[in-house]
Amino acid sequence: MPGCYTCVRECPVKAIRIREGQADVVFSRCIGCRNCVQVCGQYAKQVYDTTTLVDALLSGKDRVAAIIAPSFPAAFIDWPYQKVVGLFRKMGFDYVMEVAFGADLVSDRYQRLFEKDTNGHYIATSCPAIVNYVERYYPALVDALAPIVSP
Ligand code: SF4
Ligand code: SF4
Repeated sequence: MPGCYTCVRECPVKAIRIREGQADVVFSRCIGCRNCVQVCGQYAKQVYDTTTLVDALLSGKDRVAAIIAPSFPAAFIDWPYQKVVGLFRKMGFDYVMEVAFGADLVSDRYQRLFEKDTNGHYIATSCPAIVNYVERYYPALVDALAPIVSP
């Protein structure tokens, strides 16, 4: 919408500029926090749709895993949550896991990290946007990022 600029104001790292009257994301500055998608009342910004890529994976020869967020019962309201795993398998996924399983593994790694380094201070790396933010805007703090992957 001309003259709206909500996303420009709301971007936490000033990664959106107006070019030829359109809001344009400067990818070298963007940390991928998704705030601009949420604040745009015109739905002008969309999450990148990877459905075609997933379809290609499912028709290929490799085994494919679906990793679903714990919020899946709220996302798939048309299906009883007890049937969701079976439905994913029917679609062709070989494995269906919850992200919560990854969170369990990651919690264990954090515990081990703090047992080894009892005085350590770390920035948790579960959120990719936070990792991007530190890497792009506070490179001096990169060593403080916990050396642990995201769930
Ligand atoms: S992309 Fe959405 S929030 Fe940003 S200026 Fe356009 S209409 Fe406004
Ligand atoms: S995803 Fe976040 S950082 Fe990137 S342009 Fe949108 S609001 Fe700004």
